[in-house]
Amino acid sequence: MNTVASATLVAVALGFGLWAGWLIGRSRSLRPTARPETRRVPTLAELLQRTFRTTGSGLAVLSGSGEVVLHNRRAAELGVVRAGRPDPRAWAACRRVLDGSVQTDVVDLAPLDAGGPGRRPAAVVATVQGLGDGFTLVEAADMSESVRLEATRRDFVANVSHELKTPVGAVGLLAEAVLDSADDPETVHRFATKILRESTRLGALVTELIALSRLTGAEALPDLDTVEVDEVVTEALARARLSAEAAGIDITVDEPSGLEVAGDRTLLVTALSNLVENAIAYSPADASVSVSRRVEAGWVEIAVTDRGIGIAPEHQVRVFERFFRVDPARSRATGGTGLGLAIVKHVLANHGGEVRLWSRPGTGSTFTMRLPATGDTRRDRESAGASGRAGG
Ligand code: ADP
Repeated sequence: MNTVASATLVAVALGFGLWAGWLIGRSRSLRPTARPETRRVPTLAELLQRTFRTTGSGLAVLSGSGEVVLHNRRAAELGVVRAGRPDPRAWAACRRVLDGSVQTDVVDLAPLDAGGPGRRPAAVVATVQGLGDGFTLVEAADMSESVRLEATRRDFVANVSHELKTPVGAVGLLAEAVLDSADDPETVHRFATKILRESTRLGALVTELIALSRLTGAEALPDLDTVEVDEVVTEALARARLSAEAAGIDITVDEPSGLEVAGDRTLLVTALSNLVENAIAYSPADASVSVSRRVEAGWVEIAVTDRGIGIAPEHQVRVFERFFRVDPARSRATGGTGLGLAIVKHVLANHGGEVRLWSRPGTGSTFTMRLPATGDTRRDRESAGASGRAGG
């Protein structure tokens, strides 16, 4: 090897060494940035600020001169702060806290103006507390839902009292009439029959009230059995047979389906008989009522169709409310309590199902109970075709 060659070799080796060294150095210098960046932990003040911003309560801090020092968006939505100023009622409460007349104050901040921009909750209640150094905290909450529930409860109690008072009053008057006509057997018989009818109505009302309160207490049924839909239909029809015969109504029913649902058999029979009893009660004499069952898109459906008086569109949602009747006189004449459809609605809701209504005045109505199909019934079976006779 000559000197030129060995010099070239040394130069190449040196060049390679330098290049390799540079590479290693570079990769080392890159390593720290390749590691995940360590996140900055938010300070307590930042966390407090985030909590203040996102909490569901409307929060506002007021100074001793009534200036809004701090408030979140919810406080503006609930009307505690408007155009940067505190609600006068909230500020009056703050002053009471500041002058020491109360330690905390609760103030009603219901909207003063009915309309106005944006949607304001119907009921807002705020609590005011001192924060020291002349500052106060106003904490407001939307109470519309509890006010609505309370109003519903009050309505319900008023309705129940009214519904119970009517037959109780009638029984008293009729009993007096019986006493006054003790020597007239025919009149006694007539009044006693009426007493019997009123007491039956009272009994039905109390039974349905108890059923309804049980149903509304438990939103989902804890233990569901496997229930044969055909048995539910058979039993509901057996219960309605007497009323159907008395009204001269013919009930047709489709072929047994072999369908099963997960549920409470007694409740499902109650719901279906309520629908069948209504179909009979709101149909003219000699009309027909039909009951059919099928599986449709994951639902087991039991439908009750009548060719009766029908229900106007504006009443179709309301008929499921407790004590709502399109024609109170007709409902009372048929012994109705006004609770039947409310019970049906709750029974279905507790089964994870629903009740649907199609109706046209003068044509008739179809009420459909829809229950979630279980694994067995999910394979959409053909709905039974031919119709048979009631009571099957
Ligand atoms: P009711 O005891 O009065 O029948 P429901 O809760 O069962 O109480 O029904 C509420 C109201 O809905 C009834 O008073 C009646 O006006 C109307 N309704 C219910 N079912 C029918 C039907 N099949 N056809 C026409 N109207 C009906």
